[in-house]
Amino acid sequence: MWLPNVLVHSFSVVLILIASSSTALAQSSPAPHWAIAIHGGAGGDPTKWSDRQKELRRQGLERALTAGKEILAAGGTSLDAVEQTVRILEDDPTFNAGRGAVLTSDKRAELDAAIMDGSNKACGAVASVTAVANPISLARKIMTQTRHVLLVGPGADRYSAEIGMPQVDPSYFVLRPNEADQSLYRTSEGAYLGTVGCVALDAHGNLAAATSTGGLGGKMPGRVGDSPLIGAGTYAENSTCALSATGVGEEFIRNAVAFDVAAKMKYAGMSLENAVDQVIFQTLKPDTGGVISVAADGSTVLKHNTPGMSCGVADSRGRFDIMLAIENK
Ligand code: ASP
Repeated sequence: MWLPNVLVHSFSVVLILIASSSTALAQSSPAPHWAIAIHGGAGGDPTKWSDRQKELRRQGLERALTAGKEILAAGGTSLDAVEQTVRILEDDPTFNAGRGAVLTSDKRAELDAAIMDGSNKACGAVASVTAVANPISLARKIMTQTRHVLLVGPGADRYSAEIGMPQVDPSYFVLRPNEADQSLYRTSEGAYLGTVGCVALDAHGNLAAATSTGGLGGKMPGRVGDSPLIGAGTYAENSTCALSATGVGEEFIRNAVAFDVAAKMKYAGMSLENAVDQVIFQTLKPDTGGVISVAADGSTVLKHNTPGMSCGVADSRGRFDIMLAIENK
C-alpha cells in the first residue's frame, strides 16, 4: 500500500511515542540516578524544642539539601555535593559544626571533620582544629593535596594557613559561652544543637560521605569523636554504601559503626536497611545516635535510636523531605 511520506513519518513518530511511553510505564519507579541525605544531629528531643528552634533547624536543612540537590541534578560529583552541603551547615549557627560548634570545658571550639570518596577510598580528615571556618574543606584538601588521611590540632591548623585557607579568630565560634557545659545527649532539656553530615550518590554512580562537628559540649580539650575517624563516623565505598553518623562518638568508635554497616553488606550480603537496623538497634546502646546512608542503587536509609534526628533526603525521582525525627524507625 502506498502512503504519502508525511503519513509514514507521522505514523512512525506515533509508534515511537507509544513505545517510549510503555517503557516509561514498565519502569514506573526507576531507581534514582542520584540521591542525597543529610543530618543535623540526633541529640536532644525535638518535642521539647521551641517552634523557633524547630523552624531554624528545618530552614537550615532545607537550604543545605537544596544546594546539594542542585549540584547532583546538574551532573556534579557526589564529592562536591557532600562538601558544599556540609559547608552550608557549618556556616549556620543552628548546628554543632563550624560556626555553631559547641565548646570544650575550657570554652574553646575544637572541630572535627572527615570526607570520603567512595569511588577510590580516598579520604581526608581533621581533628581538634581551631582556625578554619569550614573544617570539611580542610579535610578535602588533606585528602587531595597530602599523602596523609588525618591531621590534628596545631599541625592541621598550621597546614590550613600554609595552603592559604582563610583563618578565623577563636571568638568566631564562641556564640554561646554559657552553654559550653551543655551536653547534647539528653542531659539537658534545652539541648538542640547537632553535628552535621551528608551522603550522596551522583549520576556517575559514585558515592561520597562527609561529617563535621564541634563534638560533645563540655568535652575535655583534645577529645576526638567518631566523626573524623574513617570507619567510625564516616565511610564511603561504591560497592557498599556511604554513611555519616551522629551520636555519642565514643560508642560509635567502639563499634566501628560506619565500617560495620559496609562490612555487613560486603561479607554477609545484607541489604543496607538490614545492616543499618542491626547496628542501630542491636549493636549500639539505646539512645546513643543515628546514621544517614545511601547505597549504590540510590536507596537511602536514615535511622536513629534517639528521640529525634534532624535530617533530609532528596533524589532524582523528585523526593525532597525534611524531618526532625524518622517515623516508624
Ligand atoms: N558524634 C559526635 C562526636 O561524638 C557528636 C554528635 O554527633 O553530635 O563528636
